[in-house]
Amino acid sequence: MNVNSSKKSFMALVLCAALILVLSFSYLYIFSNSNHHCSKHECPVCEQIQIAEHIIEQVKNAIITIAVLCMTVFFICHLLDMTYVLLVKDSLVKRKVRLNN
Ligand SMILES: [Zn+2]
Repeated sequence: MNVNSSKKSFMALVLCAALILVLSFSYLYIFSNSNHHCSKHECPVCEQIQIAEHIIEQVKNAIITIAVLCMTVFFICHLLDMTYVLLVKDSLVKRKVRLNN
């Protein structure tokens, strides 16, 4: 493992930790302030709860999009692999067998 690869791994780990922290704090804020004394008119707590819900929704959509993309790439790779096996059949020329006469 070279230095560049270890840097990428470290950055990926930091991003995952930040994502988990943001989600945890968003859920914690919503849970802890769900029964607040609301003034009903421009309540700052309600606005913060809406922002936290928006963050959670964005992260959820990003995770779903990434999962769908990964599944699509996985499916296409397997489809190409199966197509290669079906279409490119084994032959003597491919095995480099010398054909005399
Ligand atoms: Zn409120």
